[in-house]
Amino acid sequence: MYDVNRVREDFPILARQIYGRPLVYLDNGATTQKPRQVVEAMVDEYYNVNANVHRGVHFLSQQATDLHEASRETVRHFINARSTAEILFTRGTTESINLLAFSFGEAMVKAGDEVVVSAMEHHSNIVPWQMMCERKGAQLRVIPMTDDGELQLEALDDLLTERTRIVCCTQVSNVLGTVNLVKEVVRIAHERGIPVLVDGAQSVPHMSVDVQDMDCDFFAFSGHKVYGPTGVGVLYGKEAWLDKLPPYQGGGEMIKNVSFEKTTYNELPYKFEAGTPDYVATHALAKALDYVSGLGMQAIEAHEQELTRYALEKLQGIEGMRIFGAAKQRDAVISFQVGNIHHLDMGTLLDRLGIAVRTGHHCAEPLMRRLGIEGTVRTSFGLYNTKAEVDALVDGIERVRRMF
Ligand code: PMP
Repeated sequence: MYDVNRVREDFPILARQIYGRPLVYLDNGATTQKPRQVVEAMVDEYYNVNANVHRGVHFLSQQATDLHEASRETVRHFINARSTAEILFTRGTTESINLLAFSFGEAMVKAGDEVVVSAMEHHSNIVPWQMMCERKGAQLRVIPMTDDGELQLEALDDLLTERTRIVCCTQVSNVLGTVNLVKEVVRIAHERGIPVLVDGAQSVPHMSVDVQDMDCDFFAFSGHKVYGPTGVGVLYGKEAWLDKLPPYQGGGEMIKNVSFEKTTYNELPYKFEAGTPDYVATHALAKALDYVSGLGMQAIEAHEQELTRYALEKLQGIEGMRIFGAAKQRDAVISFQVGNIHHLDMGTLLDRLGIAVRTGHHCAEPLMRRLGIEGTVRTSFGLYNTKAEVDALVDGIERVRRMF
């Protein structure tokens, strides 16, 4: 039995009052709250272990290095990568994709080439590719989407040409909650020998991920969205690909030898990790992954799916409710508008009731344009949310609706 009340005790912030009301935190798609296990690991490391990693012979440096490298193994195991050489630590999904877009672009993309992204990407999986395309004289192509918010994969095959260098697709939409058939995207792209990047920012917190089973070539996610600290994320890449790509940034750690004439680069994964990493955050990320693994990703998924079903049913009962996205497979994200109440007004008034939701374009302006809207209100659930919180949201929306 998944005991959500027990789980909530691990998250001190959930006991906060906002404007004298209990906090109802429904903005997990933007970032998740942190359990004691994660925060305490950070405090403990700063108080008792802190030293720069990799470069020291002294005890603390060794210990900090061991924690940092053990974290890499935890991440490897969590997403089932083949080797820790395939796990690059970054600052988050955004930096992971910028790293890849730069590095892949340098090695693989020429004028006239094409990069394919989907209609429902976050700006983080559009703009880095666009910047690279501009630099290289390449073109961006877009996988279209149905009105229900599902990718039209039957169009993907036609979109791919001998000029397509890479396909970039999110596993879960941060707006529509659509769970994309990324295995199918990979299968279609691989038939033509084209690699695939999967943006896992919104999937890793909610479902078990197996990069070998998915067979994607690259996979990115952020620590802070999976109950870990800010400032750390991961880029997974198949070793054969990472071996072919040049470094993203130069500096310490990514080198083997440096002279003024020539520098040789370090082996994987260090070739892509210039400078002092946020080793406290990597250790705390491992604690977060241990935490969710301890609860069980399947148990978390079942809890959140139940909550999402419950919320969809309740929300649909509200007069004037318009929910965006009706994919057959969907995750714990629901975007909506109510009548002609502006999303900002709805968000601001819900906030006064202690309910934290996100409003706006959710860093997906092309998707907003496709939907013909400027923004939505978005509720997104985490492993600690309850049906009582869904009820509070529904009551809150009803109150706001009556005010208008
Ligand atoms: N991709 C998706 C699908 C996201 O939801 C987000 C965060 N909203 C990002 C990328 C960017 O993540 P970060 O800001 O942690 O780099």
